[in-house]
Amino acid sequence: MSVRRVLCPGSFDPITNGHVDIIERAAALFDECIVAIFRNAAKAPLFEVRERVELCRQALAHLPNVRVEESDGLLADYARSRGVSALAKGLRVVSDFEYEVQMAHMNKRLAPEVETIFLVARPEHAFLSSSIVKDVARFGGDVSGLVPEPVRRALEAKFR
Ligand code: ADP
Repeated sequence: MSVRRVLCPGSFDPITNGHVDIIERAAALFDECIVAIFRNAAKAPLFEVRERVELCRQALAHLPNVRVEESDGLLADYARSRGVSALAKGLRVVSDFEYEVQMAHMNKRLAPEVETIFLVARPEHAFLSSSIVKDVARFGGDVSGLVPEPVRRALEAKFR
């Protein structure tokens, strides 16, 4: 029997409880789940890719069928090289939809054997993003309950 694998891509700068929820749900639907951290040079990340990988590993340590990898380049090529049957993305608000559907069409064109599946964000995560968490943490605001504890500590250390 072949192993069914799903890929959860993103920049995870840093991973939030919204990401963790989507990854837990994707991992429950497949045999294996790969979380791929893209460098995303365009975004001037707060955390180095190695730090993002480490924080994701800590935040996802409770999920035995999840592994975290760093990646670069074209997502469709990466998905192919890992033999995944699907990309799992989280949908928060309507504004996510437009961008995500465009990406899904392009990825389908580049790698037709890979499906994109969307998991709807929980209402309590619908307005949660890495950027807003960084904005709050930068000015000393409390982000506990929004990010995993190792991320909260890493943010505190960054902005101390
Ligand atoms: P990118 O920077 O490539 O958009 P992110 O790291 O911000 O990547 O997000 C990766 C994935 O996680 C995307 O599919 C995004 O829709 C999803 N996501 C981000 N924040 C949340 C959240 N609060 N709830 C559910 N899904 C989320």
